Amino acid sequence: MAMDLFEKLEKVGEGTYGKVYRAREKATGKIVALKKTRLHEDEEGVPPTTLREVSILRMLSRDPHVVRLMDVKQGQNKEGRTVLYLVFEYMDTDLKKFIRTFRQSGENIPAQTVKSLMYQLCKGVAFCHGHGILHRDLKPHNLLMDRKTQMLKIADLGLARAFTLPIKKYTHEILTLWYRAPEVLLGCTHYSTAVDMWSNLCYISIVAELVTKQALFPGDSELQQLLHIFRLTKQCL
Ligand code: AMP
Repeated sequence: MAMDLFEKLEKVGEGTYGKVYRAREKATGKIVALKKTRLHEDEEGVPPTTLREVSILRMLSRDPHVVRLMDVKQGQNKEGRTVLYLVFEYMDTDLKKFIRTFRQSGENIPAQTVKSLMYQLCKGVAFCHGHGILHRDLKPHNLLMDRKTQMLKIADLGLARAFTLPIKKYTHEILTLWYRAPEVLLGCTHYSTAVDMWSNLCYISIVAELVTKQALFPGDSELQQLLHIFRLTKQCL
């Protein structure tokens, strides 16, 4: 059984499509992140779209600023349903948690750190775009970090269409809304690399959040979200 190879240590997060655990690889003692992903219940085996998405992740994982997918294991859960375990290098925090620790302590994130994180983010996004891949969901929650080295890695890449319905759809949509590009909010379906640039650079919503420790556009509906954006844009003109 594939999962006998790992010892689950603790749950470290919950993404759109499943839980993420810190785990130890029994053979090597290496600490990894295991992302448990349930497949569509109405399909048999691994859907081709899933395989394609995993192969995208494998290709992009070569970049130092994209989280490294080390392996994919297939298993079954207690109910006998097929489960995919994506085995990633383990990162000890993400930008959302990192910002939260500074907010709680009342300290500012040093300007040098903000610069370095944005530089790494730009490099990672450039690599993805260079390979024809749009992330579509860049936000602090999806940017993993190593606290000690301050290395940033883009995560949650390219899985969006492959797996079953989000476990926490509502929460996810609200969080994502804050970083959603205006053209997507306005219903555009033929968007391009600009959607990643919005969360990455345009009005620098992530930089703003690193500096102020608050989300720049915390809308609670699509209309509210657009109003937040328009209000700030108007002030800047
Ligand atoms: P994701 O589904 O990729 O957005 O992951 C949800 C959460 O799990 C993230 O916000 C992280 O807190 C955590 N996580 C995801 N991947 C890793 C990883 N490779 N190492 C450590 N934690 C992770």
